[in-house]
Amino acid sequence: MLPYGRQSIDQEDIDAMVAVLRSDWLTTGPAVSAFEEAFAREAGAAFAVAVSSGTAALHAAVYASGVGHADEVVVPAMTFAATANCVRFQGAAVVFADVRTDTLNLDPEHVERVVSARTKAIIAVDYTGQPADLDELRDIARRHRLILIEDAAHALGAEYHGRRVGGIADLTAFSLHPVKLITTGEGGVVTTNDPAFAERMRVFRNHGITADHHQRAAAGSHYYEMVDLGYNYRITDFQCALGLRQLRKLPTWLKRRAEIAKRYNAALADNSATRVPCILPDRRSAWHLYVLRLELEHLRATRDEVLAALRAENIGANVHYIPVPWHPYYQRLGYKRGSWPVSEEAYRRIITLPIFPAMTDTDIEDVIGAVEKVLRYYAR
Ligand SMILES: *Cc1c(COP(=O)(O)O)cnc(C)c1O
Repeated sequence: MLPYGRQSIDQEDIDAMVAVLRSDWLTTGPAVSAFEEAFAREAGAAFAVAVSSGTAALHAAVYASGVGHADEVVVPAMTFAATANCVRFQGAAVVFADVRTDTLNLDPEHVERVVSARTKAIIAVDYTGQPADLDELRDIARRHRLILIEDAAHALGAEYHGRRVGGIADLTAFSLHPVKLITTGEGGVVTTNDPAFAERMRVFRNHGITADHHQRAAAGSHYYEMVDLGYNYRITDFQCALGLRQLRKLPTWLKRRAEIAKRYNAALADNSATRVPCILPDRRSAWHLYVLRLELEHLRATRDEVLAALRAENIGANVHYIPVPWHPYYQRLGYKRGSWPVSEEAYRRIITLPIFPAMTDTDIEDVIGAVEKVLRYYAR
């Protein structure tokens, strides 16, 4: 089965990790800071704080924003559960907003409608790798004094108005999970231009302790203070050695992803049973995911039947995402189905096709052939 996403690891990646395993530092060592510096440069931000997962990165960003029990945070309904969960970790209320019909990114007009006196932050997701409407959202954040967090788990290397995502929102969170743009196995990074945010997140990832072992050694003292409730969200040096190697390959990988998307678009744009992704002219997608929408009116099948048929052809198609408020945990909190019509209607139609740099041209042709075959079979 061809998966929808997959990492690329070569011998040099393995050698770089093994070298760190033989060194003195397995965690909180020089590879972590070297990776953070390289990542900040890549993302066009002043600071990068590396943590143990994308979810930890989002949690650190929400924490740094000062979000607490009395607050609300606006989150799109069409995303992975972790985008909303990190708000719950801080005891705050999630206010789900709907997405735009064309891009399935957070709809600024809907955000404006749900902002209240209790709103503290907005989390915008760069869905599939296409940057959200950052100018409009920054404007809403400025007018209502909110913090704009960008969940760029899909969007390392993506561009908005010619700028890399990472230094545009107040805080930008990335994931380094194997299916994402680069990987450290598990891992995450938050970028920001604000030194106070960066410092708060460094303390947060280390139990809420202000001095790390470097600072204690420099002061020749055992003394430290735990100033706030933090977590152990540290990432290891051998993971960061892998991350450093992966970052160097990002430009080639982004090109290959864009090429694959172009091939899919060319083959499927004129097929009346599908709608290809819409990328707005003022931004560039990182193409983490390639999401087709089925024109169900032209098909005698549901999305799930099309998905099953593709899997029977050995194409590991998938669905991104089930609207988050539909999950039982959020249903128990009282969210009502039907409140996010665009996300909910899109969910009936979306299908993710395989896209990752190591796909061969034959893989691409296999996917296109299977999609065309299945859609022809179910054509109305
Ligand atoms: C992958 C992902 C996350 C979580 O990242 P992990 O590294 O798996 O914890 C959060 N948000 C979105 C949109 C994601 O795709």
